[in-house]
Amino acid sequence: MKDVVYVHPPRYKDADFQNPAGLPRPVVGGLPFPWVTPMGAGGPLFREVERVKAELCRRLWGCQVCGNDLDVTAWVALERPEDWAGVITSAAMHQACLRLAVTYCPVLGDATRGYAFTEVYEDEVVAVEEKASNKMAPRTRWCLRPVSETVRPGRVRAFLTLGQLDEAAE
Ligand SMILES: [Zn+2]
Repeated sequence: MKDVVYVHPPRYKDADFQNPAGLPRPVVGGLPFPWVTPMGAGGPLFREVERVKAELCRRLWGCQVCGNDLDVTAWVALERPEDWAGVITSAAMHQACLRLAVTYCPVLGDATRGYAFTEVYEDEVVAVEEKASNKMAPRTRWCLRPVSETVRPGRVRAFLTLGQLDEAAE
């Protein structure tokens, strides 16, 4: 994936902040700074996602944490452990980057949310147009496609809990 170079980069601590792709991530306020996270005028916006970068990750199969190309398979966090579940923050990650994310992100690392984690091929994550509610524009959600609809219909998909993810890394 091509990196994004800002013509007018945001500033952090009186210096330009380009936030280049790759590992290790820049450390901002003691936390690894994801590639898709915006730097605001007053500091990092960890709860937000830079939409252009997130879209690049989706379209070009890039990692939302480090910004580099993904491998043949990558990992996603899901709203729940089932087909058609929504992909959290709509993009995939390297396994090492997922580890970084669940360690430092209070949302992904919160076991009470019941998120599931699974390894996917690129064709297992698809865009689903959601019907517009009220005056809102239609929204695209990235969802987990059933294995039976992919080119590997016999593949066994494993949904891991946050705790199982920890065990898998040990
Ligand atoms: Zn990565």
